[in-house]
Amino acid sequence: MANRTLVSSSLSNKILDELDELMLIFVLSFFYKYFIYLSLHFTHILKKYLQMEFKKLWHFVFPSYCIVCEKFGDYLCEDCLNKIPIRIRDFCPICEKNETFLGKICGICKQKNKSFFLDGLIVSSYFKHPVLIQSVYLLKYALLKDLSLPLAKILAKKINNQIYSNFSFTSVPLHQEKELFRGFNQSILLGRKLQSELLKQKITINFIPDLLTRKKNNKAQMTIKMIQKRKENIKGCFKLNKSYTTKLPEKIIIIDDISTTSATLNECAKVLKRNGVKIVWGIVLARQAIRF
Ligand SMILES: [Zn+2]
Ligand SMILES: [Zn+2]
Repeated sequence: MANRTLVSSSLSNKILDELDELMLIFVLSFFYKYFIYLSLHFTHILKKYLQMEFKKLWHFVFPSYCIVCEKFGDYLCEDCLNKIPIRIRDFCPICEKNETFLGKICGICKQKNKSFFLDGLIVSSYFKHPVLIQSVYLLKYALLKDLSLPLAKILAKKINNQIYSNFSFTSVPLHQEKELFRGFNQSILLGRKLQSELLKQKITINFIPDLLTRKKNNKAQMTIKMIQKRKENIKGCFKLNKSYTTKLPEKIIIIDDISTTSATLNECAKVLKRNGVKIVWGIVLARQAIRF
């Protein structure tokens, strides 16, 4: 009897010891995970803090002023940005006469222009507005990347409250050499900022910046005066990125800064449609009116 009690008490002691060990392991693993969490959290805060301090230092060494009112801060302050008008009425981009929903090609032009692959062109503002054009030139040629945010806000204002949930967005690709020289592709920058700007309004868009790639480093379209020559210059410049051959969205909107003849957007639309995309639209900040 005494032996049985002794055995059972040593067994319960053993169980208690094991439970202690398990408890110790549990507590240690909890503190270890908490320590990892805290250090990651601290690293994140430190990174954000250093980024903010660096930004302040950058602005101190290279102060930025609004290009219009010269107020210290952003290159285009909120007040001056809000003065850029957003187009309310949209027209067919070919005849520029018929008012259509979001710049859809009108029935008559669709029949006459079989080599026009774009289904429509959304034009956000006016080419004649000097601040808008100056901002685009400063972004592209003075490489003021920060101007991509106010410009994307113009695109966001135009497409606000419209139904875009079925569309995916993409950009006009730059040739690798040109992108390396400039350091960025303004069309991709606009797309990224547009995506984050719409997200603030709880609108989620699918932005795929690299659906297309550029094969040729052709002459800049704006250096060519003749419309036909522009079409020839851009012909065969783009191809589909092989990674998307089997997972192409059905409806796509291509983002670009300024459109003149729509030749570039149309060439992009041609490649997308030949690869199975059903509907292709373009969206630009402004359009320099030149008739086809
Ligand atoms: Zn201003
Ligand atoms: Zn038309």
